[in-house]
Amino acid sequence: MVSAKPLRRPQVSQMNWPDGKRWVYSITYDEGCQELLNHALPLHRKYGVPGHVALVASQIGVPRNVPGSSYDGWMILSREEIDMLCAEGWGVSCHSMTHASTTDANAEYEVVEARKVLEEALGRPVTMYCVPGSNECYPAALKVAERAGYKAIMTITDMVNTPETDLLALGRVPLHTQYPPPFYSAYDPYKRIHQAMDLGGWIIDYCHCPMPDKAVHPWKDCTLAELEERFATVCRVGGDEVWLAEPNDVVAHLLENR
Ligand SMILES: [Zn+2]
Repeated sequence: MVSAKPLRRPQVSQMNWPDGKRWVYSITYDEGCQELLNHALPLHRKYGVPGHVALVASQIGVPRNVPGSSYDGWMILSREEIDMLCAEGWGVSCHSMTHASTTDANAEYEVVEARKVLEEALGRPVTMYCVPGSNECYPAALKVAERAGYKAIMTITDMVNTPETDLLALGRVPLHTQYPPPFYSAYDPYKRIHQAMDLGGWIIDYCHCPMPDKAVHPWKDCTLAELEERFATVCRVGGDEVWLAEPNDVVAHLLENR
């Protein structure tokens, strides 16, 4: 008879996160659509989860003008609305100047200049960058990010971060109704939660603007009901062990404790 020796659970230091929390949950909304106020925000208040918007610097308080985008024409949050969200614990990051594909040729404008323009438009510091479009924009952004003044970069690599993760290469978990073909999937409110618990990790969910009934685009968003199912699952499974945190606060904590 073969007796399998159980693999030991990874040792997770309770010192990693504030107040003895075991793992961290964050969520980000790319583009910062104004409709977040009508739909997602009430769920944030209900579950005590702080939100985060990744903002295109040239698109504050105007209808989105990024031709070809699924969200083109959607109204984007104004400075006053963003002030209101930040007053209740939300945070922001820079999602480039124009959402163009970032290359070495335009990185100075899309990444460096974008930070200054966004800080000016919002009247608040912006120290996180959020790669637009796809990770193909990442290498050019990385080259200039630290000089631009960013302390962290969020990508769209689907992974759980840990206290050891490179802050300039943070992963985000797509919170989407369905994967694009050929990877068909059913919505999963447990996505990566048990991995985060086991590793003492940090989930940063990513979507755009959850709406009632139907996702705007099934592989860029979930529905409002699915968002609520996610928050309820994080809170129920995480209990007292999960730190519901705004990403800038987590970065600040990690920089203080490294
Ligand atoms: Zn985007």
